[in-house]
Amino acid sequence: MTGFDAIVIGGGPAGAVTALTLARAGRSVAVVERSEFPRRKVCGEFVSGTNSAPLDRLGVGAAWRENAGPEIDRVGLFIGDRMIETAMPDGHGRGRALGRDVLDTLLLDAARQAGARIFQPWRATRCERRSAAWQVEIRRRKDNDTLCAPILVAAHGSWEPGALPTQEDRRHAASDLIGFKAHFRHDRLPHDLMPLIAFLGGYGGLVRTDGGRLSLSCCIRRDRLDLIRNSEPAGPAVLRHILGHCRGAREALSEAETDGEWLAAGPIRPGIRARYQNDVFRVGNVAGEAHPVIAEGITMAMQAGWLLGRELGAIDGRDPAARAAAGRRYAARWRRMFAPRIRFASALAQLLTREPGARAAGALAARWPSLVSLGANLSGKSKGLPPHRLDAA
Ligand SMILES: Cc1cc2nc3c(=O)[nH]c(=O)nc-3n(C[C@H](O)[C@H](O)[C@H](O)COP(=O)(O)OP(=O)(O)OC[C@H]3O[C@@H](n4cnc5c(N)ncnc54)[C@H](O)[C@@H]3O)c2cc1C
Repeated sequence: MTGFDAIVIGGGPAGAVTALTLARAGRSVAVVERSEFPRRKVCGEFVSGTNSAPLDRLGVGAAWRENAGPEIDRVGLFIGDRMIETAMPDGHGRGRALGRDVLDTLLLDAARQAGARIFQPWRATRCERRSAAWQVEIRRRKDNDTLCAPILVAAHGSWEPGALPTQEDRRHAASDLIGFKAHFRHDRLPHDLMPLIAFLGGYGGLVRTDGGRLSLSCCIRRDRLDLIRNSEPAGPAVLRHILGHCRGAREALSEAETDGEWLAAGPIRPGIRARYQNDVFRVGNVAGEAHPVIAEGITMAMQAGWLLGRELGAIDGRDPAARAAAGRRYAARWRRMFAPRIRFASALAQLLTREPGARAAGALAARWPSLVSLGANLSGKSKGLPPHRLDAA
């Protein structure tokens, strides 16, 4: 059994940044990540420009700027036959998209360089509190090991089933949102435009990412997916459905070819969950998730990782009262920072997934510039939240 000050389950943006921050505070940290990196992921891959300074502080800013796709100046809405666009609100630089195969590798490498020990590809299969410490069983093919630490952080995302107490069960509902993602080449979308696309039963987004690829990511209700699929594989069926409902997507993708496999994930369960419960700290999607309509999940995961790492790096993790107090502070700050974005994203997603009659589409289109501005303000796209300001959060 190997002992640490903290164990972080999951090496996505939330887990990597929590581990990096804790390691910089002088703590011994283990990160357990089940996938081998680089790996692709269902995600639009857009990161707001306000992250440029925080990414510098994490040590990956230069690599992000060097590798990411072009700066995004305009936000569009493709709904029915309408194609509207508005300027990205002024703020601290333009956002850009970088494949999760690249970004997540950069962040986890930065955690490793800061001193975190990365167990990869190992899956956490069980965790149990035994008096002074958590014991976490990990497995890689036929190998088993046990790690122990007084602090346990769940950063395993929210879309995968599993036996951990922080993993939700997977009862299916017609209203479940299933996520899809594909990269394309030879498309006709202007390089600085990021349109939101609305279609019957779902919504999605298009954005230019690294290497000239176009990223299409979307969510669709399970009952609509069942109706449109016939005997076709799900990804191409979703694309056909989008192209049938959305002129802007048709024009952008008329001559495009997929680059790599379609990916699927979910159900996606947006909402606010516990941030500290049963002595487990939760970060990233485990703690709460915005509808991807505002493309803020990576930003929130990184910011929350920094917030949690700073809290836990300042306490004696062996003291239960100190852990509980840190959990309360973290939960309260998390809510102040992220709850408004999650609520706004939920309201916008509801507008987009309503039956899109011509009048509803017209009303949404008319309000598009003010909605983008409001969303940018609530989400931090136009007012930065660099990590050095988190003390004041
Ligand atoms: C369609 C769609 C589009 C999106 N577009 C954007 C966008 O453009 N911009 C944006 O900011 N956000 C976007 N998001 C949201 C974003 O992808 C997530 O919010 C973000 O990935 C959350 O990061 P995380 O670190 O919490 O979890 P994850 O990125 O899911 O990382 C969790 C990690 O834990 C690992 N893991 C899971 N279980 C175990 C286990 N038992 N043991 C060990 N490891 C484990 C997984 O392998 C994974 O690497 C989108 C989401 C969807 C569905």
